[in-house]
Amino acid sequence: LVKMEDVHLAFGQTQVLKGIDLEVRKGDAVSIIGPSGSGKSTILRCINGLVTPQRGSITVGQTAVHELKSEAERIPLRKRIGIVFQQYNLFPHLSVLENIVIAPVRIQGVGRPEAERHARELLARVRLSDKEHAYPGELSGGQQQRVAIARALAMRPELVLFDEVTSALDPETVGEVLAVIRELVADGLTSILVTHEMRFAEEISDEVLFTEGGRIVERGSPASLFHNSSNPRIHSFINGLG
Ligand code: ATP
Ligand code: MG
Repeated sequence: LVKMEDVHLAFGQTQVLKGIDLEVRKGDAVSIIGPSGSGKSTILRCINGLVTPQRGSITVGQTAVHELKSEAERIPLRKRIGIVFQQYNLFPHLSVLENIVIAPVRIQGVGRPEAERHARELLARVRLSDKEHAYPGELSGGQQQRVAIARALAMRPELVLFDEVTSALDPETVGEVLAVIRELVADGLTSILVTHEMRFAEEISDEVLFTEGGRIVERGSPASLFHNSSNPRIHSFINGLG
């Protein structure tokens, strides 16, 4: 579904991606781990067409993302890709249900009854059925992030990008968000996850990529990366030593 080949990207003089190759098949969950500033978020932004590489190719399904020339051309791509960030950015003045139905209704032209039916189904999946009338300010961080996940799924995306979605949460609410993602992945959601939750990445991923300095320095099955890597850099990173 997603293929990146030899992607190079610089911001001004700073080379941020130095030849990224990546492939995600339908139904796969691929995790990206690595130190701060290594290019993880930039990889996701390339896939979504938010930044355009100077060299290399990116395809999502049949779409050559690197060849899209304008924001107008990128809109159809963005509708196919859900993104969940560290900051959930819900609309504070809208109820939970409204936050979820607004994009399908306004952007995709889905009828309101169908959008609400789907939203309630998604709220059940993220275990927030009792909160549809609540406002974001009345929810915990973990609950708001689960609404953000439901909102991303409301567009029926082919692919969901998760960028450190638990990094801003209180430790006690991290687990409930990971539990929801774990279930979505088990149900076959195609996803790319940037995460600092090593145990979680190990448990749910089909493949794990370790980035450093704009390169993927190691990739493989969770077992090979977490338990059989010969790279001391990866050992110390995984064990929280930087
Ligand atoms: P973190 O774990 O801290 O989120 P990351 O691996 O996601 O880090 P990126 O956000 O992809 O890292 O950034 C990679 C590098 O690119 C960093 O050195 C960052 O300063 C730089 N960078 C990112 N966006 C821009 C931008 N718009 N302009 C200039 N430099 C940028
Ligand atoms: Mg980042």
